[in-house]
Amino acid sequence: MPRRARPRLTLPRKKKSQNPQPRRMEISDQKWNALNELPHCTLANDRYDDVIFTEDNTALVWPDTLALGVESPPLEDLWVANIISIRGASQFEDVWVQVQWWYSGKHIQDHRQMEDPKYSFGSLELCLSDHYTIIPFECLYDKTEVLEYKENEVTDHKYIDENKFYTRSFLYHSSTKELTPPLYHPDRPLKLCLCGKSYNPDGPDPMHFCPQPGCSTWYHAECLVSGEAPGPYILNCTPYEHGSQLLYSNPDFRSEEMEDIPDVGAMDGTTLGLNDLDQTLVVHAKQQIIKGAGIYGVVGNQELVVEARRWVYRLCSRDDPGYSEHQALWLTEGVKLLDKIKLEESQKLLTIVGHSDDATSDSYITLKCPKCATAI
Ligand SMILES: [Zn+2]
Ligand SMILES: [Zn+2]
Repeated sequence: MPRRARPRLTLPRKKKSQNPQPRRMEISDQKWNALNELPHCTLANDRYDDVIFTEDNTALVWPDTLALGVESPPLEDLWVANIISIRGASQFEDVWVQVQWWYSGKHIQDHRQMEDPKYSFGSLELCLSDHYTIIPFECLYDKTEVLEYKENEVTDHKYIDENKFYTRSFLYHSSTKELTPPLYHPDRPLKLCLCGKSYNPDGPDPMHFCPQPGCSTWYHAECLVSGEAPGPYILNCTPYEHGSQLLYSNPDFRSEEMEDIPDVGAMDGTTLGLNDLDQTLVVHAKQQIIKGAGIYGVVGNQELVVEARRWVYRLCSRDDPGYSEHQALWLTEGVKLLDKIKLEESQKLLTIVGHSDDATSDSYITLKCPKCATAI
């Protein structure tokens, strides 16, 4: 199969990030319509295997601001687009790709809506646009994916690696330069922190989550600590006690509806207590739910902790004859869940959770939810 070398064009650099509007080559509608539809196109790669692009792939695209062929360009400098269709004179001759662009926060930074504190964009956060272009396939760099972050959901979060693109489902209308933010749809408004600002995944301040029914709200730790009356929102207890209270902050019951979970089960073994459970599970269930500030990741540990708490309730429920099978199931399913969170991130969280009354971490703050007053 003939191989096509990576083009080595050098293009002038521009000073400022521009909207994705490749200007180096253009194709007329007449020529595009005359080309053959192709099922895929193959980009020869000097360093790795060839990359085969098909419709519905998401591609990294060389921006006009970078010379083609630059070694290891920073991810946030590359453009991102969905491939809509591929056409060419033949499989390896005069191949063009119709793409739909993803815009980054940099691309729309001048937009007036961006001054609204509800809008924050992380460095790898993207919004899909209605901007379509036909570009030469040599502009493609590699395949990528854009993960969806459902900020309003209590669970069902795919862990987002620090090198992954993600979207909170903003849509950018290129003709009107308007953002459509479904997160702030009037029928399903995003619950914002006390400060009214949305989550900035690259910001310095971590956010804490209250998963209780009716709350499901993220709060900046800083806003809870420095909150005006009736704040600050801090429980007067030790980190260890706080960890125990965190068990009762869950998405399925309000804390006052839950029965106490005993430390030990019944003498006859018919019920389980916390000390009878797998302690990895218990430690995770007692963690604060945190995201952001670099170390906790874009999505944070929400799904891991919420699921761990649910397993604790299931296992300790008094009339559950299948508890031993259920604990075995946790050890299988829970390990899968743990795999989703990078081990080192999980370990960082474990070191700050209060294991005992003499918890050493000064950074542990016994926060409470401004709405329901449970530990968060
Ligand atoms: Zn805040
Ligand atoms: Zn709450």
